[in-house]
Amino acid sequence: MNLSQNWRLAEQRYRLVGEICPHCGVKIYPPRDACPDCSQPAQERFTFSGKGEIYSYTVVLDAPEGYEEQVPYLIALVKLDEGPMLTAQLTDFDREPEIGDRVEMVTRKLRTEGNAGIIVYGYKFRPLLMP
Ligand SMILES: [Zn+2]
Repeated sequence: MNLSQNWRLAEQRYRLVGEICPHCGVKIYPPRDACPDCSQPAQERFTFSGKGEIYSYTVVLDAPEGYEEQVPYLIALVKLDEGPMLTAQLTDFDREPEIGDRVEMVTRKLRTEGNAGIIVYGYKFRPLLMP
């Protein structure tokens, strides 16, 4: 992996940085350097607020490798305030989430990798603390 890919991944993980289409204004996440709406090149960076709402969610009981210790956990389709939808784990819910619940991005431990126990961090969404 080269430096710019690393930088880009880090930004995606710790801040919600995507792109904005200079042609039609659509906000893009994850960044893909092309607008999904008008197909024009779109490389201008845009930092999302990290706030959105739960569009749908599911309880994961049968986790993929590396996530077993967190079972059961919640995966949600989050609709960001700026438009794009993304899939992320929910955290800090002390009750059953509801569709439309306001959530915000936080950086949390995602999983432990391999025998060396490397901890991978990334974003999750928790209930919005300060609306
Ligand atoms: Zn566009």
